[in-house]
Amino acid sequence: MDEKIGGRRVPTEKIPVREAVGRILAADQFSKVDLPPFDKSAMDGYAVLEGDQHSRLRIEGVVTAGDPGTDKLLPGTTVKVMTGAPVPPGTARVVIVEEAVEEDGHVRFENPSPASNICKKAEDVAVGDRILKAGVRLGALEISNLISCGIGDIDVARPVSVAVISTGDELVDSFSNLSRGKIMNSNGPMLQELARKFSMTVTSEVSVTDEPSKLTAVIQQALREADMVVLSGGVSAGDFDFVPQAIEEAGLQIHFSRVAIKPGKPVTFATNENGILFGLPGNPVSVFLTFHLFVLHAAARLSGASYEPKTFNIRLANDYTRRSGERMVYVPCRITSDGFAEPVIYHGSAHLAALMQAEGFLIIPIGVRSMTSGAEVPLVMFGSRFG
Ligand code: AMP
Ligand code: MG
Repeated sequence: MDEKIGGRRVPTEKIPVREAVGRILAADQFSKVDLPPFDKSAMDGYAVLEGDQHSRLRIEGVVTAGDPGTDKLLPGTTVKVMTGAPVPPGTARVVIVEEAVEEDGHVRFENPSPASNICKKAEDVAVGDRILKAGVRLGALEISNLISCGIGDIDVARPVSVAVISTGDELVDSFSNLSRGKIMNSNGPMLQELARKFSMTVTSEVSVTDEPSKLTAVIQQALREADMVVLSGGVSAGDFDFVPQAIEEAGLQIHFSRVAIKPGKPVTFATNENGILFGLPGNPVSVFLTFHLFVLHAAARLSGASYEPKTFNIRLANDYTRRSGERMVYVPCRITSDGFAEPVIYHGSAHLAALMQAEGFLIIPIGVRSMTSGAEVPLVMFGSRFG
């Protein structure tokens, strides 16, 4: 897949940091400032000059956050400094107000702790430090860090655009059209919302019946309007699964159409010179899983990034068995309060409601048919509530 996507990239653009949430950074970013920009007080208290042995200090003034600060203290004197205020040059420590008693313009300390209570200039970030690497997806933390480092405009990847197609004679888009044999098209809205969640733009979301010529026309239109086409249904081996044929008629080359995972076996990946198409299976749990496994991976590549959902080992809450070990299985599960993975009640890949109980998927490797409770298994953290 990576090889076929190759060097394809969406263009980059320069935008204000404040508008960049969800975007992928296109260039490394370096701080323009020191953080903190000066030695600053971490607490409300009294500045004590290095080496000053006086037990009583005369208060020369007050420095609040935002003040430019004062000159070096003379022995026997202090200034009261507020949290965030610059401490005078040569200050060894700040004794907090809770450990001090003020009387007639002087202060004395009662069992002060040895803590310095000073944040040193540039201890967090120094001018020129690289604070973010190209390829990072920008969230609230990244945006606020860029802003605190004095960065105004940044180069980011243009959002990847996606055209969503749902296929199937059984699909209806409104409840009033629901009749015997029909089902609501839930894949189209799911794909649209997942794409938006990962900051892609959705150019269209259409459903189409299982008719080869219509399918071909819809795929061609989708290829014209978007960087990627994400289609669901019609890719398995049924009599009405015309999608592979339509994909080829639309001028795409299919690179794979079967993957050894469960659910999600018939995932299809096709490209032409500048188009990319994913044919996902029709069942909604497969759609959810394969969107994360394949579509997000490709979208990240196009943006100069990588999609690496959190994966870690966790102990099984119950014994696990399955009949065949042919495919890698993704088991929707929740995490118990004592930190075990517990499969949710799950009837198979049509059981969309089950995913709302899940926090991730356990990954059972090919060849493994059973595991006992307590065994360590990798869990990948994309689910309805996380990731
Ligand atoms: P298919 O891959 O087309 O054979 O579809 C497999 C199963 O997924 C069938 O039960 C379909 O009815 C169901 N399905 C296909 N497309 C959708 C959709 N857009 N929304 C909900 N279920 C679907
Ligand atoms: Mg179908």
